[in-house]
Amino acid sequence: MARTHYIAGNWKMNTSKAEAVALAKDLVEQLKGKTNKYMIGVPFVYLDAVAQVVKGSNIILAAQDCAATANGAHTGEVSTEMLKDIGVQCVILGHSERRHEIGESDELINKKVRRALNEGLEVDLCIGELLAEREAGEAEQVCAFQLSADLAGVTEEQMKRVTIAYEPVWAIGTGKTATPEDAEAIHKFIRGYIAKLYNQKVADEIIIQYGGSMKASNAPELLAQPDIDGGLIGGASLKAETFVPICVL
Ligand code: PEP
Repeated sequence: MARTHYIAGNWKMNTSKAEAVALAKDLVEQLKGKTNKYMIGVPFVYLDAVAQVVKGSNIILAAQDCAATANGAHTGEVSTEMLKDIGVQCVILGHSERRHEIGESDELINKKVRRALNEGLEVDLCIGELLAEREAGEAEQVCAFQLSADLAGVTEEQMKRVTIAYEPVWAIGTGKTATPEDAEAIHKFIRGYIAKLYNQKVADEIIIQYGGSMKASNAPELLAQPDIDGGLIGGASLKAETFVPICVL
């Protein structure tokens, strides 16, 4: 089944405000009229400024996290209400840097996923195994557990606004990429598991991105795999000249 390629950039904790605005302007200009689906995950403090730039363009604006609860006494948190108020359409959730550096649990990720979906946002849900888990032959088991736990309570209708990003943790920011064959095998497994959790229609339609040191040189082979529908890109998304060539494949 042909699915639209969905190419997303995760800027993480990078750029100044001026750099964020300039990068967004370059992307709007260079992706104008291009037909894949595009998203940028921008640091909270620059979302408002970047929202003014991407408004009316074909680029979806995403936050890199959101609170699990509604507005209230939650110091330091940023709510889905606040994100929607400034034009954010999507939230990246479950990123391995939040799972492993901050200690986010699958229970908390699930609360955030449900909160974002109930509030009408799109979700880019990141899953993936650690190197030790892959070496122990547990990659599929880890992905299955994360999918079941993080998507608990998410309806079939809401799944239309969910994208899965498979990101083997050992490939993120390391320059190591899963081989296209290895990546395809786990993407196929993930699609099959979504069919078990929901049904074949949801599985056929869901976009599954690959993430982990994707760049213009390795993207064509990865994106040529039948179950790899796009990419979530960190390092190479920080410059238009390294991101755009992947976007237009
Ligand atoms: C990511 O942060 O989601 C990612 C895949 O990073 P990188 O492309 O730098 O490996």
